[in-house]
Amino acid sequence: MKFGGTSVGGAERIAGVAEIVRAEANAGKQVVVVLSAMSGVTNTLLAALKDSANGNIAKLLQTREDLLKKHLDVINALVRDENARQTLTATTTNALDRFEDLCSSIYVLGEITPRATDAVGSLGERLIVPIAAQAFNDAGIPAQWVAANELIVTDDDFVAASPLLDETREQARAKLLPILENGSVAVTTGFIGATKKGILTTLGRGGSDYTATILGAALDADEVQIWTDVNGVMTTDPRIVPEAMTLPEISYGEAAELSYFGAKVIHPKTILPVAAKNMPIRILNTFEPTHPGTRIVREPKPNGSPIRGITAIRNVSLITVEGRGMQGVPGMAARVFSTVAREQINVLMISQSSSEQNICLVIESANAPRAIETLAHEFRHEMAAQNIERVWAQEKIVIIAVVGSGIKTTPGVAANVFGALAGKAINIIAIAQGSSEYNLSLVVDEKDADEAVRAIHRAIVKK
Ligand code: ADP
Ligand code: ASP
Ligand code: MG
Repeated sequence: MKFGGTSVGGAERIAGVAEIVRAEANAGKQVVVVLSAMSGVTNTLLAALKDSANGNIAKLLQTREDLLKKHLDVINALVRDENARQTLTATTTNALDRFEDLCSSIYVLGEITPRATDAVGSLGERLIVPIAAQAFNDAGIPAQWVAANELIVTDDDFVAASPLLDETREQARAKLLPILENGSVAVTTGFIGATKKGILTTLGRGGSDYTATILGAALDADEVQIWTDVNGVMTTDPRIVPEAMTLPEISYGEAAELSYFGAKVIHPKTILPVAAKNMPIRILNTFEPTHPGTRIVREPKPNGSPIRGITAIRNVSLITVEGRGMQGVPGMAARVFSTVAREQINVLMISQSSSEQNICLVIESANAPRAIETLAHEFRHEMAAQNIERVWAQEKIVIIAVVGSGIKTTPGVAANVFGALAGKAINIIAIAQGSSEYNLSLVVDEKDADEAVRAIHRAIVKK
């Protein structure tokens, strides 16, 4: 059972989590609880780290105080046992002292390393887990916590580490099974792992969902429950489209596609550890625990609609390589893609006009300057000869993806999508169908993105 940031956002929320856990434990199930940092904490920690590297530590003391208060409030509200309360107050204070030390070191160095980012970024989970475990005990739910850096062994790709599955299986079982067999609930940190040498890593932002399925797979769990703040995976982000509807069942492939293309409700890697094992995942709402939410399974029941959802990927740039001399020259596209691949830049979408005068690719904006530089270098001779006129980036664009396994085989979906955008006079910058069988993607200006999602949702999602 994984609970996200909002679900552990304060004492009252954590008390609610305890009741949800109690219901499962009372039903005779063995439960491992994975917790995210309290909402906002990871952002606060990473912002403080960045400020420190930029020579700005004026706010550091205040940040430390705010974080301390946030966690002491939970201790004071939920922990009755006097000894436990004192111990937790001391460990929380120590952990935040260490946070201050780390930020001060980064201030002196003036540079953040990925390893330091993980040391600081992982702190939110490490702060709340011991507190929540004690709160469970105080609520009469026997619980024991263990930090996931003792469970999940990863490579040393800091900030986006991947689990080493065999080692993780061995460690997770060795640490967690005795707790479960002892009749306790095991409570652990989301988001975190450690290298073989024991150095702390993180799985990437939003990675606690992934922690839950990594551990679910390691323990051969019956199911993985991901508890969040909405009623499951919905047809689109309910913050943008209030009439978004819950999808009762979706396939592993559709879930992967929706999350990869921006449905923040689960981390894109979440399904990897469990899909091959055919282990069900359920997405549930801590604010409405009786709602059935979404089941992610191998073969969902057909629901009559080819469309599962509409997503938006932000913070991306459209890179265009263009020039009249590209027409009919074999190998141009191959060179474009191998150049960005060499730089390890992930391409989210590709599109080429039929006139062949340009090739467009969408990548994360952070990678755009590097992509332009290396492409300009790769094609320097063609540019000198004016066969390629320019390599350039268009910023402030958004990919809108319409996802569903029936899209390619259902006539009229594309027409409805384009009709909906035309109806709102929204300009489509680029189109692609085919990064997989599951989606139709298009690029629009950032200012049109929310309106585009709403218009498409209205046009193609049937009530
Ligand atoms: P948690 O802290 O529980 O991990 P997140 O904030 O990471 O929660 O993810 C839940 C949020 O994802 C929701 O509040 C919702 O706004 C957003 N979201 C985006 N797309 C979707 C979607 N298709 N279905 C459900 N939620 C979505
Ligand atoms: N706390 C981490 C983050 O904010 C992990 C998570 O919430 O899943 O990215
Ligand atoms: Mg999340």
